[in-house]
Order: sequence, then C-alpha cells, then structure tokens
Amino acid sequence: MALLISEDCTCCDTCVPVCPNKAISAGDTIYLIDPAKCTECVGAEDSPQCQLVCPADCIAQDPKHVETQAQLEAKYAGLH
Ligand code: SF4
Ligand code: SF4
Repeated sequence: MALLISEDCTCCDTCVPVCPNKAISAGDTIYLIDPAKCTECVGAEDSPQCQLVCPADCIAQDPKHVETQAQLEAKYAGLH
C-alpha cells in the first residue's frame, strides 16, 4: 500500500530527495505522497525511506491504498 503523510508534517523537505519514485511533493499545508507513485520503496529499497528520515515521524501506511507485493513491483516497473 502507499504511504500517507499526516497533519503533523512540518514541511521540512527531508523526505523528498530520498524517494526513489519522486512520489513526494509539497502540498498547500503539508507534504503529500502520490499513491500512484509510492511503492513503499519496493523495487528500490528494503524499507520505506521517507519513514526512516522523517524527523516528525508523521508517515504511516495508507489503509485506503492496499496493494500486494506483486502489484507494488509492477507499479515500480511501470515508473522506471
Ligand atoms: Fe517514496 Fe518510498 Fe516513501 Fe513511497 S515509501 S513515498 S516510494 S520514499
Ligand atoms: Fe513532512 Fe516528514 Fe517529509 Fe518533513 S520528512 S516534509 S515532516 S513528511
């Protein structure tokens, strides 16, 4: 499933450069993850890089975007 940034985001920009899919961008009030581009870092890394670096600990799984490992791998292949 894609990941979701909560209202606790401080817009520090730390997560943007670590995303292998360029899925994160600045929104009106907080940063946003494009679910069409987020693969949970499947295809590129062992774990979600944005979660690792976020100082506000405000990135979690998005229950509205549940996907299988195979779907995430296919999404990554389609993006690259
Ligand atoms: Fe990008 Fe990975 Fe975070 Fe998804 S989990 S937004 S692919 S860094
Ligand atoms: Fe927001 Fe965390 Fe990304 Fe900083 S690293 S912009 S606090 S989601």
